[in-house]
Amino acid sequence: MIIVFKRSATEKQIKHVTIKLKKLGLKPMISQGVERTIIGAIGEEDILRAQPLEVFPGVEKVMAIMAPYKLVSREFKHEKTVVSVGKVKIGSKHIAVIAGPCSIENYDMLLKIAKAVKKAGANILRGGAFKPRTSPYAFQGLGEEGLKYLQQAGKEEGLPVVTELMDIRDIDVVERYSDMIQIGARNMQNFNLLKEVGLSKKPIMLKRGMMSTVKEWLMSAEYILSNGNFNVVLCERGIRTFEDATRFTMDISAIAVAKKLSHLPVIADPSHATGKWGLVSPVAQAAIAGGSDGLMIEVHTKPEEALSDGEQSLLPAKFKAMMKSLRLVAKAVGRDI
Ligand code: PEP
Ligand code: MN
Repeated sequence: MIIVFKRSATEKQIKHVTIKLKKLGLKPMISQGVERTIIGAIGEEDILRAQPLEVFPGVEKVMAIMAPYKLVSREFKHEKTVVSVGKVKIGSKHIAVIAGPCSIENYDMLLKIAKAVKKAGANILRGGAFKPRTSPYAFQGLGEEGLKYLQQAGKEEGLPVVTELMDIRDIDVVERYSDMIQIGARNMQNFNLLKEVGLSKKPIMLKRGMMSTVKEWLMSAEYILSNGNFNVVLCERGIRTFEDATRFTMDISAIAVAKKLSHLPVIADPSHATGKWGLVSPVAQAAIAGGSDGLMIEVHTKPEEALSDGEQSLLPAKFKAMMKSLRLVAKAVGRDI
């Protein structure tokens, strides 16, 4: 249920309704729009139906949100959300570019990559320290040591940093060293992890599960928002289909669908979607043309020696060339990069 206030509603009137909702055992979530305030009342809808909330001073209307996701929906908040990661505003006219290696391997390599991507126009540095690997025998990441390198390289280059959190037990250490927390595709429906990052003050990047529908993806985002963290960026990273020419299938239409249904910013990861470095640039172009608010790109100075995802990692020079091509596409859709 959402309670829409009149433009003229006062703070006192809004507080009055908030207190009433709490008394009814509901959780009021406030969305302060440019034009008006909306409260999303989370909990038993039946309790609300029995309440004549329309008669409260300042209230314009009370509506049920038809979608199963509530706070994430455009019905709850019409204007696009802009998520700040350091000085970077994801969801603004400027397209955010997150770039870096799949895994943090050592400091020198990371710093080299950070310098190269920054110079080419990236604005957030990525790097995994806790890696979700298919094989238990594959490189699992450097853990806290890697996070220290990431924070240091980010500071050195003036780039905020993002890294994946796989386990609730690591939330403190990941929060300490990062500016944004990534929830990977394999954990998109790890509901306890989602609830935990919902309590975090850090912005969250929520990747789409490789076998999840857009609706399930948005329901997962709802877990985070309903615990109070509204700074969520959705990331389309390809889904499983019968096609085996690429690692996954980039679901370009999902970007438009998610943006239509939700106010949250949506970015795309053509590196994991394609699994092949030669396909990253054309798919990144398609994502920008299709309305993506940002990109996540894997870059490595020696892809052939990378400890994970070398086949899909761009050399710095290729990354630079890709950025050049993206500038033209961004301009064509009224954005910049
Ligand atoms: C990653 O970003 O390195 C990663 C493992 O991504 P995904 O969760 O999309 O597979
Ligand atoms: Mn990777």
